Amino acid sequence: MALLPIIGASMNLQDLNKITSKMSNTSKMPVLFLGHGSPMNAIEENEFVSGFRKLGQEIQKPNAILCISAHWETKGTFVTAMKQPKTIHDFGGFPQALFDVQYPAPGSPELAQTTKDLIKTTEVGLDENWGLDHGSWSVIKHMYPDANIPVIELSIDYTQPAQYHYDLAKQLSELRHKGVLIIGSGNMVHNLRMVNWRKLNEEYAYDWAIEANESMKNFILDDNHKDLINFRSQGKAFDLAIPTPEHYMPLIYTMAFKDKNDDVSLFNDKPLGGSLTMTSVKITPNT
Ligand code: ZN
Repeated sequence: MALLPIIGASMNLQDLNKITSKMSNTSKMPVLFLGHGSPMNAIEENEFVSGFRKLGQEIQKPNAILCISAHWETKGTFVTAMKQPKTIHDFGGFPQALFDVQYPAPGSPELAQTTKDLIKTTEVGLDENWGLDHGSWSVIKHMYPDANIPVIELSIDYTQPAQYHYDLAKQLSELRHKGVLIIGSGNMVHNLRMVNWRKLNEEYAYDWAIEANESMKNFILDDNHKDLINFRSQGKAFDLAIPTPEHYMPLIYTMAFKDKNDDVSLFNDKPLGGSLTMTSVKITPNT
């Protein structure tokens, strides 16, 4: 009965079982928010990459991955539904070695359809044109270098506020029991206009960046999702940290999946270049 509030009045438990019955039950999966930072993390060795790699070794192997990437914004909500998503190099001005990276993980038309069916608050489109942008492959490749776990992406509707995204994510919570690893990929503090590019690899931050990052961490650890959702009411530090919401919104998705008794931990908790933080979140079932 605990499932009923999240699936809406138009749906009963029997319908939900029909949607997910083809996917077998597993123990409850963790949920992640990964600060992806520069696309160069895809090919560099550094402490952040080590953090992603360690995660891949710690977590039980998922059946599939659902990634909410800062780099796929759409009007309306879509899921990638192709069998073989292409690797999208959605950036410019980087070395050829980065453009040469391919991450040939399969897609999962089945998981795309299940995701679409579970979301009742909006019509979710099945997308055949996108693929995997660097928000997903630049981090997932370190976790699962063999590219043998299916990955789908869920887009971020840029016309909608944080509460909408939070409510939308909650409708997918059943996927945690189906072996699906849900990853939000963005950056908590992300102001590219204020980055000191000459010091991009240096660990330092402006005062406002530290202030915003510390507040976000407290909200995360205190289960204060209301203030995370109301990020536009948190003052100047937040406004500077989140000049546009696309890198922050994946965090809202991740936190929506947290159940009361789950554990939350932080890792890769470092600033870079003045106005970025790599702080990442791991939500794990309390066993
Ligand atoms: Zn990014």
